[in-house]
Amino acid sequence: MKALVAVKRVVDYNVKVRVKSDGTGVDIANVKMSMNPFDEIAVEEATRLKEKGVVSEIVAVSCGVAQCQETLRTAMAIGADRAILVETDAELQPLAVAKLLKAVVDKEQPQLIILGKQAIDDDCNQTGQMLAALLDRPQGTFASKVEVVDGAVVVTREVDGGLETVKLQLPAIVTTDLRLNEPRYVTLPNIMKAKKKPLEVLKPADLGVDVSPRLKTLKVAEPPKRSAGVKVPDVATLVSKLKNEAKVI
Ligand code: AMP
Repeated sequence: MKALVAVKRVVDYNVKVRVKSDGTGVDIANVKMSMNPFDEIAVEEATRLKEKGVVSEIVAVSCGVAQCQETLRTAMAIGADRAILVETDAELQPLAVAKLLKAVVDKEQPQLIILGKQAIDDDCNQTGQMLAALLDRPQGTFASKVEVVDGAVVVTREVDGGLETVKLQLPAIVTTDLRLNEPRYVTLPNIMKAKKKPLEVLKPADLGVDVSPRLKTLKVAEPPKRSAGVKVPDVATLVSKLKNEAKVI
């Protein structure tokens, strides 16, 4: 069974991003970039399924600038067998990515398609759902457990009230939540091996996809600064402040 995993290059989660002075977006010049953490979980899950003998081949796909090749090499160092970069300098919104991924899925015909639940840069949480709709295939989002059984995938989902388990006929789309697994540490020998794995580069036009943005960002602003806190000497003062000053109790 072939698995396809979507990996996005995003600002590293340790970086404190700055909003551009003109409010048009976030400044990513000279900022450390890494694989979206939920996508690392997706690659790890596909790799574990391969190690169990459930998956036979893992294809990692990224859409974006040429430097996404680094992200794809990381995916291959974790366990992907080969990679596809859909290269473009254009700003990609979730619908455009979903259309590109659909075109790659049509070409590659994977049974299991794994994405992150959300990209930590745009926080959209849309691409997996849009891809499922475009492919007209079932989806199991926010997965905390994934099991493949007899042509289906059983996905345990993290929902507000607890856990929900759904069974999806393959091919299906799964999006990963934080508790699905802990991605392995990428070792140097595997980084070296990943350099030799195949990486195909396509353009959106090769896939017949128009990636022009459909949404316009009006403004990006920093969150309001938090005012400094105060230390209280004892519980009685705290209770009094909460009652009389904050008026929350
Ligand atoms: P989003 O809907 O933007 O929050 O992204 C959800 C998931 O879609 C990510 O975790 C990735 O798995 C996938 N994805 C989004 N953008 C891209 C991209 N440019 N290239 C590859 N995968 C992407």
